Amino acid sequence: MKDKEKKLLSFRESLQVNLRALKLFWKMSPKGMLCKIAGTFWGALTPYVGIRLSALIIEELSGARSPERLKSLILAALVSAALFSLASVLLDRAMQVELDSVNWFRTDHLLWGKMLELDYHITEDPETRKMLSTIRQNMNGGGWGIHRVPENFDTLLRAVLSLLGGLALTVSLFTSRVPEEAGGLTFLNSPLFMALFLAGMLAASLLSSFFSTRANSYYALHSDSHNLVNRLFSFFGFLGQRRDLAADMRIYRQEQICMKYNKDKTGIFSSQGYFARLARGPMGLYLAASSAVSILFLTGMVYLFVCLKAWAGAFGIGMVTQYIGAISRFSGSIGSLFDTAGSMRNNASFLKLTFDYLDIPNAMYQGSLTVEKRNDRKYDVEFRDVSFRYPGSGDYVLRHVNMKFRVGERLAVVGMNGSGKTTFIKLLCRLYDPIEGAILLNGIDIRKYNYEDYLSLFSVVFQDFALTDYTLGQNVAAGETYDGPNARECLKKAGFGERLEELPLGLETYLGKTFDQKGVDMSGGERQKIALARTLYKNAPFIVLDEPTAALDPIAEAEIYSKFNDIVEDRTAIYISHRLSSCRFCDNILVFHKGSVVQQGSHERLVADEKGKYYELWHAQAQYYDEKTVGAGAEAAL
Ligand code: ADP
Repeated sequence: MKDKEKKLLSFRESLQVNLRALKLFWKMSPKGMLCKIAGTFWGALTPYVGIRLSALIIEELSGARSPERLKSLILAALVSAALFSLASVLLDRAMQVELDSVNWFRTDHLLWGKMLELDYHITEDPETRKMLSTIRQNMNGGGWGIHRVPENFDTLLRAVLSLLGGLALTVSLFTSRVPEEAGGLTFLNSPLFMALFLAGMLAASLLSSFFSTRANSYYALHSDSHNLVNRLFSFFGFLGQRRDLAADMRIYRQEQICMKYNKDKTGIFSSQGYFARLARGPMGLYLAASSAVSILFLTGMVYLFVCLKAWAGAFGIGMVTQYIGAISRFSGSIGSLFDTAGSMRNNASFLKLTFDYLDIPNAMYQGSLTVEKRNDRKYDVEFRDVSFRYPGSGDYVLRHVNMKFRVGERLAVVGMNGSGKTTFIKLLCRLYDPIEGAILLNGIDIRKYNYEDYLSLFSVVFQDFALTDYTLGQNVAAGETYDGPNARECLKKAGFGERLEELPLGLETYLGKTFDQKGVDMSGGERQKIALARTLYKNAPFIVLDEPTAALDPIAEAEIYSKFNDIVEDRTAIYISHRLSSCRFCDNILVFHKGSVVQQGSHERLVADEKGKYYELWHAQAQYYDEKTVGAGAEAAL
């Protein structure tokens, strides 16, 4: 398996996205970033204190040998080591609490929070979904993207500080002069030699980092394949735990399908696979070259230079420890600086993708008018010559729809599947905006209202409604906290009363076992009732039932609809169904056909019009159920 190599961003672009990501972290967690900076500062300083004190002790041992001075030096070394590591641990802990532990949550929130803010049609766009899923896969698979930013920042800062610390302790290495009696070795004093030595160190550091960055870039450049490996691993890893697959897996031994990945000699998991070959081949070679250059040239040059100067008498033996320690760290930090720059560049295209996603403009929900809160629920909604087609589709799904809801009305929207009923509701809830015409709330275009405010007017149960794995009470309230008596009352009204009595944990019962082993799996019918209770709990002036009962037979649906009608009280209720029998009790029935409202009126009036669509549909559907049953069914409902 081989995929196309990606392109790295330019140096300037890389810098820009990395700086932006850093600002983002600063905004998300200023305390965490401060702890990180302090911790890094401390961490970078600590070794130099040890190096300096060791050098002083050795100097003392090989020189004056004063017991008093030795004692105080050793004490200073011990106390400083203890204090430094204590402070380091404390700062590290604080940083972990402030930054690392919340990092995943905050960045995750950033990503899915954006999905909730985006214009609805953009969230449905496969390109947007793909973008988010690629960002996540890169994050979980290779650790690329936003999560790598604090880590890179940390190593960069550490390298810079280390560089400064090393520099401070090595200045005297270059300034201390080899005495004239050392003869030929006085060339070590020559500024030209020192410049060459420094240039050589810089070149070796650069070369070593170039090799290691090149090796690491393979994962970045081939992140798509790498992500696939990670996806497959996650899939296989959790296969045994999947409750939804457990029974089928056992009966059909489906795990065998996965074995092909193991058997395939050239597959991604095998020792002949693409990544294994890369690791054995160029990636491994680059890493080896990086280490070789670092050890042979950097360490070798440092030892040679320091030992020669000490040999020639430029300084004492104690200083050899200091210089070797400090200059090794100094050159290591040059390498680390370049490595981090490489890592930042490798990460830049992943950051760019994240920002491209976060920068998708939110154009639709910009209205600012507040919706008047009315106790009398006197809201009227009007569709004025509304036409609509889905983004990217040429065909109109709704054409010139004109209608008005009266307050407290029971409105039914009926029509064959695909006639535009759900689309009509989606426009009402502003999941989409009309292409032509306008929808008005109390005479004002709904686009002008603050979206949250406007949405608070509606309680909708869609056909594919979703409940969460939280507690029953939280599901009814659609929130973290809930008003128990009210939630219980709504569940009772929705026909869940008896079942609620049977549950030992009552409203605290978790739905499913994701969060609690004592959680209960509810049946489809029970879930519907919970969803209906949720609409009642919200207590919005408009209630919409968009065929949440589609999985039931027509008679059961009719029963639920008509019974529900008794409990919606003074609210405006809109019932959607392709089954005409379910909505016959409504005062006003809109008949949709191919995106247009072709008829409107009560059941009696519509069914009397023999030329109308309603008459045709009613008689076509009547063969599936007995009209008398449908009419009388409400008692047994809920
Ligand atoms: P109904 O609720 O009456 O069954 P819908 O409003 O769901 O009808 O669908 C009306 C038409 O719009 C159908 O032809 C359907 O295929 C199309 N449609 C629905 N949703 C989308 C969408 N997200 N993108 C494109 N077309 C869609």
